[in-house]
Amino acid sequence: MIEKHFDSSYEYVRQLDQQDKLAPFRKEFYLQEGSIYLDGNSLGVLSKRAEKSLLDLLDSWKQFGIDGWTEGDDPWYNLSERLGEKVAPLVGANSEEVVLTGSTTTNLHQMVATFYEPRGERTKILADELTFPSDIYALQSQLRMKGYNPETHLIRVKSRDKRLIEEEDVIKAMTEEVALIVLPSVLYRSGQILDIKRLTKAAHERGILIGFDLCHSIGAIEHQLSEWEVDFAVWCTYKYLNGGPGSVGGLYVNKKHFGKAPGLAGWFGSNKDKQFDMEHTMIPAETAGAYQIGTPHILSAAPLIGSLDIFAEAGIANLRKKSLCMTSYMMKLISRELADVHFNIGNPLEDKRRGGHIYLEHKEAARICKALKVNGVIPDFRAPNGIRFAPVPLYNSYEDVWKAVRILKKVMEEGQYKQFENERGIIA
Ligand SMILES: *Cc1c(COP(=O)(O)O)cnc(C)c1O
Repeated sequence: MIEKHFDSSYEYVRQLDQQDKLAPFRKEFYLQEGSIYLDGNSLGVLSKRAEKSLLDLLDSWKQFGIDGWTEGDDPWYNLSERLGEKVAPLVGANSEEVVLTGSTTTNLHQMVATFYEPRGERTKILADELTFPSDIYALQSQLRMKGYNPETHLIRVKSRDKRLIEEEDVIKAMTEEVALIVLPSVLYRSGQILDIKRLTKAAHERGILIGFDLCHSIGAIEHQLSEWEVDFAVWCTYKYLNGGPGSVGGLYVNKKHFGKAPGLAGWFGSNKDKQFDMEHTMIPAETAGAYQIGTPHILSAAPLIGSLDIFAEAGIANLRKKSLCMTSYMMKLISRELADVHFNIGNPLEDKRRGGHIYLEHKEAARICKALKVNGVIPDFRAPNGIRFAPVPLYNSYEDVWKAVRILKKVMEEGQYKQFENERGIIA
């Protein structure tokens, strides 16, 4: 896959950075001297704008007390809806179809509680065997609550190679027994993009509702959820959206479902004008806002006010374009510089199927990651044998990528990784 004229020189990456129109955003982020952060797919970096919006929010509490719900520059009462409006372009939805609330897992519980309606023969949920564990736990518990055995009622589409899921195999599994499908948009290990448009069309042709977990695609790639008529989606905001640890998640519900009663109801899902009537009959909002539950986590939403403005300015199409250039360049450089090392590139090579990170497989992956960290490169490890590198277009440079590969080469050539145990740390 190396092109004949591939230029691996330092001068070349410097030139790429100089021509990069997104390069000015880098200085808005708190990057640590001497460290190359390539883990934005797990926890994004703090920006000055996110920091400012959090401090401003604290200030509104200080200044307004209870009146902060309706006063100040960013009143708290409809903050979740206003942030939903800001995220809508990133998922390709209408503003009222999106709200920021909860976390990926709680939002998934809400969506399944709302849209999983087993009837007659249609009682099963379809997922895939490479999905993130929390999603599987949520689906298993939802099945149990409806009185089904997850062993028989949760179908997990098999991967042919333990890296990728073939859309064709998912479609084959869409039988008359399936009531609901939940899939990731981008697989968290291999970074494969699933064809959301194709899968949604196939599901609907068979009378099945379908939803996606966008954790690894939101802020990294473009989506057209409304146009593709996806039924629902959920995501977190602390990965590519840089909202900070535990920042408030998001959900999308297609407008054709507006008015459908939330499976898990709470007063913040009320029509905003009626909420404080304090009646015991709930009148849900006729938007995605209906699927909120309790009082929003305002302090954990605040950094997103600033962070999402950066996305609006940079433009998701531009970010995606640069991300593809960076991951493609990184793969070529690794193939060139580390040809003798037994790395396998586990992510899809085609642009259309590759998300925002690359995935290198090596049997010593756990301790290679430890050695990289000691040398100032921050990747993450995913068991059993994967190293993820996410060059993030908002704050990483081509120079970062070039230097990281050089350090990886040094760690491998000098056998530095052998000083560490080949076991994962607590988090990665
Ligand atoms: C990060 C991630 C989660 C995390 O869910 P939380 O509820 O935010 O802890 C869930 N699913 C996927 C696919 C993820 O990548």
